[in-house]
Amino acid sequence: MDETGSARGLAAVLARLRAAEAAAGRPPGSVALVAVSKEQPCERVRAVLEAGHRLFGENRVQEARSRWDGADGLRSRYAGVALHLVGPLQTNKARAAMALFDAIHSLDRPRLAETLARLADERGSCPDLLVQVNTGREPQKAGVAPEDAAGLVALVRRLGLPLRGLMAIPPDGADPRPHFRLLRSIAETEGLPWLSMGMSGDFEAAVAEGATHVRVGSALFGARR
Ligand SMILES: *Cc1c(COP(=O)(O)O)cnc(C)c1O
Repeated sequence: MDETGSARGLAAVLARLRAAEAAAGRPPGSVALVAVSKEQPCERVRAVLEAGHRLFGENRVQEARSRWDGADGLRSRYAGVALHLVGPLQTNKARAAMALFDAIHSLDRPRLAETLARLADERGSCPDLLVQVNTGREPQKAGVAPEDAAGLVALVRRLGLPLRGLMAIPPDGADPRPHFRLLRSIAETEGLPWLSMGMSGDFEAAVAEGATHVRVGSALFGARR
């Protein structure tokens, strides 16, 4: 996909999203589209910025920093950009992540919560946080086990952090719907409003199950490098 391709990709994904919202009886624009720009060439990202989109997701702190941050980063050239971290966060990158991101979707362990709380005290601010739940209990995947989600949510709240919701990545090749439903039911029990779920292949189903944030990469930008 070239630059015009990714502008068309954005239009196509937005059309799919509006249709999914309508089908679910939800107001147009009520689901946030996180355009996952990881590993995408800069021209494609610029084309999507030029088309007016302002919410982006990255999965690596270092890559996000070099693309968006600094004097010649994309953020200095486009006003109003919001960045969300959707990939795993190492504790030693927490400081850099807090400086860069408006939301972190991958809070998945007590030690990271404690580090974020300490840094939030220091900074006087903290990104919006989502607890990642490993709904498929996959050993290679980040996220807290479903039965441990309530414990981590309680800790994050005790620490006074701005917890907004939950995030999940269903197992490859499985029907994602039961995973979306499980995430939603935990969020409802915990009184959490944000649900980050749904990617290129399954975001319509996620919207039907109550997603408030969908994270879409390849359907929007084209295949990654
Ligand atoms: C890469 C990634 C996405 C986007 O995946 P696509 O299938 O390209 O839409 C969404 N969420 C996370 C956590 C990712 O790492």
